[in-house]
Amino acid sequence: MKSFAEIGIEKNILTAIKELGFENPMPVQEKVIPQLLSDEGNDVVALAQTGTGKTAAFGLPLLQRVDTTNKKTQHVVISPTRELCVQIADDIKSYSKYEKGIKVVAVFGGASIEHQIKSIKRGAHIISATPGRLLDLINRRVIDLRHIQTVVLDEADEMLNMGFREDLENILSDTPKEKQTLLFSATMPREVKRIADKFMTNAIEFTIGKKNAGAENVSHICYSVHARDRYLALKRIVDFNPDIYGIVFCRTRLETQDVAAKLMNDGYNADAIHGDLSQPQRDVVMGKFRTKHITLLVATDVAARGIDINDLTHVINYNLPDELEIYTHRSGRTGRAGKSGTSIIISNLKEKRKISTIEKKIGKKIENKSVPLGKEICRVQLLHMIDRMEKTNVDATEIDEFLPEINKKLEWLDRDELIKKFVSVEFNRFSDYYRNTADLNKPTDDRKSRREERSRGGSNEGFTRFFLNLGAMDKLSPVDIIGMVNDLTGVRDIQIGEIDIKKTFSFFEVDSEFKDQLLDTFNQAEHKGRKINLEISDKAPTKRSRSSRSDRRRSNGDKPRFKSGRNSSRNSRGSSNKPERKRRRK
Ligand code: AMP
Repeated sequence: MKSFAEIGIEKNILTAIKELGFENPMPVQEKVIPQLLSDEGNDVVALAQTGTGKTAAFGLPLLQRVDTTNKKTQHVVISPTRELCVQIADDIKSYSKYEKGIKVVAVFGGASIEHQIKSIKRGAHIISATPGRLLDLINRRVIDLRHIQTVVLDEADEMLNMGFREDLENILSDTPKEKQTLLFSATMPREVKRIADKFMTNAIEFTIGKKNAGAENVSHICYSVHARDRYLALKRIVDFNPDIYGIVFCRTRLETQDVAAKLMNDGYNADAIHGDLSQPQRDVVMGKFRTKHITLLVATDVAARGIDINDLTHVINYNLPDELEIYTHRSGRTGRAGKSGTSIIISNLKEKRKISTIEKKIGKKIENKSVPLGKEICRVQLLHMIDRMEKTNVDATEIDEFLPEINKKLEWLDRDELIKKFVSVEFNRFSDYYRNTADLNKPTDDRKSRREERSRGGSNEGFTRFFLNLGAMDKLSPVDIIGMVNDLTGVRDIQIGEIDIKKTFSFFEVDSEFKDQLLDTFNQAEHKGRKINLEISDKAPTKRSRSSRSDRRRSNGDKPRFKSGRNSSRNSRGSSNKPERKRRRK
């Protein structure tokens, strides 16, 4: 292995990175740095995951190639998110601690453009930018890339995923032909390849680790539960890992908010980050997460991009992404900088195929585990508490003063009883909660887990309960409701929960993800000439309705849940009860 000096890094930069703890180059640095420092350096395509040291791989040589006698912008680094863009600029600044006169500026959307324009006018040898803002500044003629020497595209696959293809093409067509281009990407989908082919010449391709592989030191675990038990499973996983510091990935903003709210309500240090938050709000949440005041960050994929935290212990896939490629990005958020990490999937029982596709993609086995039982969780928590107690520093001077009084008060307890009492102060919370809780791994025994859920009120996990102004008097059957859900939303594959038809109205549960779609479409429709009214029901099911449900379940072959599928919708389409879609008023 060569040293940083041997691959050409100068003394001042060496001093700065030594202070940062960089002893030897990481593989991506060993490969990329010499390419950037040689006169006839080729374009480079580097397949590298986050956490492999790629910022320094391009940052160190870029710094070294800055000509401070020239005020013009010489190198530009383009990355997908504000967080990453700022991180890159900060990292490069820290490498240049002992270099005089080098100006590095970050420009990104969602912040004052005037302020950024002023910074650029003061001089910007290296610009770290997000695509949209960079293009804006080029169009305003604040940034001129016609004399640029190097363009770095960082997390190229993420940029394309986020829809920046056109912006990137516009930016790149504004750069000189003889520049050097570096493209870093964790994966190499066709879109990225197309950009590389179009804008790069004779590129050398480096692969750091396996192509499209998950990070080496990440282990993958899958817990299979009913969709409605996802949240309960999440809680158990978190409780089973008392030192967890991780990101919980959700599919939608709504789900993100919902899961974070529940976690906070249940006393976890959690918060959400998603697209609806303003930049200052995001900054506050991220600040708390960085300082570990929040240990669980519930996030959408887009919002989590560019989060650069190296010591996450876990990534939890609360719901798998639609594009399995994204799983690689999610799991790559843990196991960084030589640390080990765990990527957890909470899957429902129908996602087996997805899991094996992911296994093929990451080239690793995903271990199937049973959701920890209440008793197992209690044991882990108890031992963790004892461990913490053992390691707690005791300020003897403060306590000594009160010791005689304490001793006197506790003298009637023997050692074991004393330990039990102290431990119970903290531990009762867990043992109370987990006493008599269900085994989430048994698909048929769903009653207890429902009871757990119900004890918090509301509908089943992941489902929204609706009130519908049609009932038995309208000759409404469960099949009609399933058909309405399918036909009105136009989605065939919606999970439908319990259906409870009363005389003049009904209740039914539908996968919360489709909540808004349902409200929107139902409330514009009619049923046999009668206007449909659908509302979210905040009422927990009554005892009577619960028993009527179980009766119905039995008459349905004891299936706890309806799955709206083609057959059922065909039934409803064939029936005369088909609702009509009302025309939207213009
Ligand atoms: P990156 O992939 O650029 O996000 O880097 C991941 C982490 O590795 C960052 O915290 C860097 O500070 C750290 N790092 C980068 N290069 C080295 C090195 N040669 N030795 C030790 N740590 C490094």
